[in-house]
Amino acid sequence: MRTLPPTITPARSRDLVGSVIDASTALLAEQQHDIVRFAMGAPSEDLMPMERLDQAFSNAGRGRYDYGATEGEPQLREQILHLSEWAGSPTRDERLLVTTGGMQGLDLAFKLFVARGDLVVVEAPTYTNGYATALSYGAEVLAAPVDGQGLVVEALPELVKHAGRAPRAIYTIPNFQNPTGVTMTRARRELLLQLAEQWGSVIIDDDPYGLLRFDGDHVPGFAEIAPDHPLLFQVRTFSKVIAPGLRIGWIDVDPEVRRLAINAKQAMDTCASVPVQTAVATYLGSGDLQRHIAGLRGIYRDRKNAMRSSLQRHFGDLATATDPEGGFFLWLTLTGEASAIDTERLFPRALTDGVAYIPGPAFTTDGSLRNALRLCFATSSPERIDEGIQRLARTVRHDLVATGALV
Ligand code: PMP
Repeated sequence: MRTLPPTITPARSRDLVGSVIDASTALLAEQQHDIVRFAMGAPSEDLMPMERLDQAFSNAGRGRYDYGATEGEPQLREQILHLSEWAGSPTRDERLLVTTGGMQGLDLAFKLFVARGDLVVVEAPTYTNGYATALSYGAEVLAAPVDGQGLVVEALPELVKHAGRAPRAIYTIPNFQNPTGVTMTRARRELLLQLAEQWGSVIIDDDPYGLLRFDGDHVPGFAEIAPDHPLLFQVRTFSKVIAPGLRIGWIDVDPEVRRLAINAKQAMDTCASVPVQTAVATYLGSGDLQRHIAGLRGIYRDRKNAMRSSLQRHFGDLATATDPEGGFFLWLTLTGEASAIDTERLFPRALTDGVAYIPGPAFTTDGSLRNALRLCFATSSPERIDEGIQRLARTVRHDLVATGALV
């Protein structure tokens, strides 16, 4: 391979770490054999409202092939206002900017608020692409622990004191976190708002899964606890509740921040795809999404329960798993004899054996959590889930025998 002369690769491109998760899409597409896919965080095609979307695309009407306003198509913004109200978190048009997926919302957040060398708190583990975006703007990440109740907010003052400076931003996924599936308690949300105010840090509230609660009680969002909080940067997307290929999301931010975000988006892509925005607005206008979400919740509850009982059956005490109340993921930690297994090393073997996951270190900034992995329960039927978990348990047991840990 030819190497680029160092003079034409500026420091910023060296900060681009890429995404193990996204790379697995291409890797999986290349495989010819049967694989149970627990890797990507995507709904399966049969759970996307295909026919309704096809109809919406064909009914979307004229005038949809021109440039659009950077803010987003007015009819889509109107539908987002209705949706936010339905979800219990009403907002205002002057706070909304339609983005090209949730990823662009994250990019805008870090671009606007983080300069090279700034401290950014991230959860450990966290969504790979989130911290990769922070790194792409030269952030120094401060990894803070996550437990069964979400980000351990009480640990932040000590960590920040040790770092010797206040964070510019705190990146959190409060609901059904990617990758662990855990949800931050109300008390921790309140404390995080207080700390952010004290430090003058922006809270980047990344919530693609919040509408997909299938068990337990609603936990109020940051904006419900502190409406119009100027330090709150809310990143939202239709990827998980409608379909990820649409690449449509939005941010809900202080109007002053929105003005800056519009400037930044104009230097990126002018506006999100107009035909797609129009179709999404038409789909939302049909009122189908609320019904669709209600159906998804039941299906994901069944799939999560199926995955947990398969894990119990096939792994026994070789692993423990989180028990999410919503979203797409659970987090598996290998225990006992299996605790020495490196899930990154195991991955090619598992793929050959017909099961795909994302290894734990992909979600950390320091390559730790090597005996853990993320499983997406959203994509497969309960029967396929059982098959996949059985294959994974077999791979683990073979590895234990091969390394002499199990006879
Ligand atoms: N944040 C989190 C926590 C996610 O899980 C994802 C999608 N995997 C995104 C943001 C990105 O969303 P989108 O696909 O809409 O860009």
